[in-house]
Amino acid sequence: MLCLAIESTAHTFACSVISSKGKILSDVRDMYQSNTHGIIPSEAAQHHEKLYHQIIKKAIEESKIEKFDLLAYSRGPGLSPSLKVGLKAAKEYSEDLKIPLIGVNHCCSHLSSAHLFTEVKDPIYIFVSGANTQIIALEGGRFRLLGEALSIALGNALDKFGREIGLGFPAGPKIEELAKTGKYIELPYVVKGMDIELSGIVTSAISKFKKRTKKEDLCFSIQETLFSMLTEVTERALAHTGKTEAVIIGGVAANKRLSEMLSIMCKERNAKFYSVPLKYSGDNSVMIGYQGILEYLAGNRTKNPDIHPYERTDSINVNWKY
Ligand code: ATP
Repeated sequence: MLCLAIESTAHTFACSVISSKGKILSDVRDMYQSNTHGIIPSEAAQHHEKLYHQIIKKAIEESKIEKFDLLAYSRGPGLSPSLKVGLKAAKEYSEDLKIPLIGVNHCCSHLSSAHLFTEVKDPIYIFVSGANTQIIALEGGRFRLLGEALSIALGNALDKFGREIGLGFPAGPKIEELAKTGKYIELPYVVKGMDIELSGIVTSAISKFKKRTKKEDLCFSIQETLFSMLTEVTERALAHTGKTEAVIIGGVAANKRLSEMLSIMCKERNAKFYSVPLKYSGDNSVMIGYQGILEYLAGNRTKNPDIHPYERTDSINVNWKY
């Protein structure tokens, strides 16, 4: 099977072609960015609107494929204005190419990508993106949320802090860079059972910045604090479930210090630690295509293509096989 896939949940508009054997035939993307502020939904949608034809045409051209079997798009969760552009593009091209359309959950696609890109079988999924921070295990046909960030997610927390100290969007990579020369100063540490609470820590770091604490020290300390909290709940998830694998997925997985902490913890517990390659750990359409194929082969069909801005990962019936 050959699938044309579209991703447009937030800042990235992407289109790719992937086969049911997992071969990536093309992968074209463009990300809305800003040096002055965070993501503004209407601006991200304008970015997608302006570029979608160009991106889809390029993905088709580069794949050298003329006949497709399926078009997969991400139906949510995400920002409504961005999702609407993806849906519109998906409808247009599925009509033009006369192929069925399947809408998939963006977060499930991130989790499934761990099976496309790594050797994992039955892991604890550590899903850390801009909008999501969840510790997940697949049990009884559902992705069960064992723990999550209660208010804002890890990526958003870093972006919010970064915005306040003038780093623009996305701030994660810039914080990682500045952290390299920083030293530790104490910040609140808030783990509640299996959940973590990040917003108070961001507020505390911002107020320290206003009192002239060095940017580098704050970047180092916010990373050490937030990542330690995530490592603690991941360790507890491994202990509770008895699983022996963990995999990190999502844009924040690009952070080397976070991976280092998690891999040290896994090693100490004799668990294997995997990470989805950086190129595919953030938003991308290859995972959407892979998810579309998995679901289509499992018999799922999208009768009324729509967007689902608030669809939760644990509401999806996992009827497909990896
Ligand atoms: P979702 O996939 O849940 O809809 P999203 O689209 O915002 O959310 P991703 O593209 O997966 O998320 O990730 C983007 C996030 O990753 C941003 O918050 C960004 O700051 C963060 N990020 C990227 N690189 C790094 C890094 N090196 N260190 C820390 N955070 C990073």
